[in-house]
Amino acid sequence: MTVTRMDDDHDPAGDRELGMDQAITRRDFLNGMAIAVGGAMASAWTGFDARLLAQRAAQDAPGYYPPALTGMRGSHDGSFDVAHALRDGAFWKKAGQPVDTRETYDLVIVGAGISGLAAAHFFRARFGRAARILILDNHDDVGGHAKRNEFRPGGQLWIANGGTAGISSPFPYSREARGLMKELGIDPAALSDKARQAPRPVAFEGLQSAVFFDKETFGEDRLVVGMPGGGRRAGASSSWADFVARTPLSPEARRDIVRLQEDRVDYMPGLTSDEKKARLWAMSYKTFLLDVVKVHSDVIPFYQTRTHGLYGVGIDAVGALECWALHYPGFEGMNLDAAATGRMSFTARGDSTPQEEPYTFHHPDGGASVARHLVRALLPQAVPGSTAEDIVTARVDYSRLDRADSLVRIRLHSTVVRAAHVGDAGSAKSVDVTYARDGKAYTVHANGVVLACWNMTIPFIVPELPEKQREALRYGVKVPLVYTSVAVKNWQAMKKLGVSNVSTPGMYHTGIRLEQPTIIGDYRPPVSPDQPILLRMSRTPCSPGQPARVQHRLGHVDLLTTPFAKFERSIRDQLARALGSGGFDPARDIDAITVNRWPHGYAYEYNPLWDPEWAPGEAPCEIGRKRFGRIAIANSDAAAAAYMDQAMDQAYRAVNELLAGS
Ligand SMILES: Cc1cc2nc3c(=O)[nH]c(=O)nc-3n(C[C@H](O)[C@H](O)[C@H](O)COP(=O)(O)OP(=O)(O)OC[C@H]3O[C@@H](n4cnc5c(N)ncnc54)[C@H](O)[C@@H]3O)c2cc1C
Repeated sequence: MTVTRMDDDHDPAGDRELGMDQAITRRDFLNGMAIAVGGAMASAWTGFDARLLAQRAAQDAPGYYPPALTGMRGSHDGSFDVAHALRDGAFWKKAGQPVDTRETYDLVIVGAGISGLAAAHFFRARFGRAARILILDNHDDVGGHAKRNEFRPGGQLWIANGGTAGISSPFPYSREARGLMKELGIDPAALSDKARQAPRPVAFEGLQSAVFFDKETFGEDRLVVGMPGGGRRAGASSSWADFVARTPLSPEARRDIVRLQEDRVDYMPGLTSDEKKARLWAMSYKTFLLDVVKVHSDVIPFYQTRTHGLYGVGIDAVGALECWALHYPGFEGMNLDAAATGRMSFTARGDSTPQEEPYTFHHPDGGASVARHLVRALLPQAVPGSTAEDIVTARVDYSRLDRADSLVRIRLHSTVVRAAHVGDAGSAKSVDVTYARDGKAYTVHANGVVLACWNMTIPFIVPELPEKQREALRYGVKVPLVYTSVAVKNWQAMKKLGVSNVSTPGMYHTGIRLEQPTIIGDYRPPVSPDQPILLRMSRTPCSPGQPARVQHRLGHVDLLTTPFAKFERSIRDQLARALGSGGFDPARDIDAITVNRWPHGYAYEYNPLWDPEWAPGEAPCEIGRKRFGRIAIANSDAAAAAYMDQAMDQAYRAVNELLAGS
């Protein structure tokens, strides 16, 4: 296999040691055909090779099965070039006259994520099962962020979530979202109970959390096992004093970490709970640590990335009050009133509100199982099986997603570039929807349209929207994230070190953990340390010190301009350094790598540190989601909340608005 490397900033001898020359499954494939990473080929719009695009577009070709692709996934190459050309004003200069397909639908949905699929479901429920629906999506798979990755290291099936991790939300699911889950046959409480009762493989017993201190950040490479409070599943761990004593941190940092973690101090004596909260929402957690708790500055790198997973930014850009709600250290003695939440983000407000029945469950492929359930309900012939369990191992037949004789059709590799009313938006009877696929533009005709795509693309698709609405749609900046899976031949190194997860706060990916599978239905991957497993790693590109939205924008550029080889080299280097003392050898042990790159990941949630408090109805997501003639707007961006239930709720609202207005 010939691979074109796009970054030359490497040392060939070091590369060999890391295994960069090993023949693993690692780079982008189009139906089995390797392509150069980094945009060496370009489309009709930006110069991408049309032959490759044609192959990419063959969703009904035999063997088409995107979950099995490895290498760069998430927003894969070829999924965003049309949208970027549209944004840059280049698309219409190159596009020829769209081909009129003469297809007509009751509803065209833009986006095959949870929101778009749920919109199809809600529309059929209200309009009737005879509704003709077309769903268009720019990716090669259904589900949007709810993406599935499959691996077969050593011939055994391992499944992972490429995006959406699972059913979880800060607030209880709404009646509509709950009803939808029930109709799909998903009962998260029952599934959780079953998973809890399943015997935990003994191989994972006693494994602990660890921190890897890297020399670039902490002056020395050192793995310290047994971080206190390392999570529900971690084994016994040491005290904070014992833990920090084994780290390369300065004496001042060690002292202050123990003080921060263990002392119960009211750092704002004399103020009421409300007054303290008012101060805490206006300062970052980093400022709280440095200026209020007065820790030594060496403490900061140890905590800097703690907020990455939820917020996509570090503690410099997340409010202290948020961190109180999420039970970060430092607030134990401050006597803050738990009942009154104060001004917080959607996530923190919900997480600080006790719930009667936590609505959580992790399918092996995360939210992709929910997406696949939705596809099964819409197109039963495409997804075999009938139960909440068998969905996990069901193989979707992609050739059945877009059949001319089907009432519901899902068309992949199709980027919508225009939705235009035929006539005035107030009185038009139909909308023409144009999409680009396979190097050509096509138009279909719809009685109504639900835009379940990303807010920032909508002003380009519907330029007639009022300026205030377009501005509101542009406000939120989606959060960039990377979920990486590395299939390894065995996990003896982690077993020997006694670790299940390693926090790597100074490194390219900020965490490594063993995938401990949810055993469900027929899905029973091997769990012995002698057998293959997945290592999960996450990265959030941040630019500390900048406002959150600026950090997210810089993160988009970072992810879209980083070639796969750079990810691969840093993954190999990081695993070698963090796990090398247990015997891990990246050249020998790595079987496959998948990097799920999400430049446009989580919906932007309003962050009290950076965003004003809007009057009811005046938040950008509320202004942005207003119906426009026969076009309604769904997607989790319309809720400014990155959760599956929010995507469903917005779909429900959009469909009802559309039907009420027609
Ligand atoms: C890494 C990650 C982890 C997450 N984990 C969780 C979790 O554990 N629990 C949870 O509840 N939520 C989680 N979320 C959030 C959750 O995934 C989303 O809220 C939900 O899935 C969003 O669904 P959606 O349909 O609104 O958007 P998406 O899933 O983004 O779907 C929209 C689709 O529209 C497509 N599209 C955009 N523009 C166009 C166009 N012009 N033409 C055609 N198609 C277009 C997009 O490419 C995409 O495929 C996570 C999100 C990410 C990124």
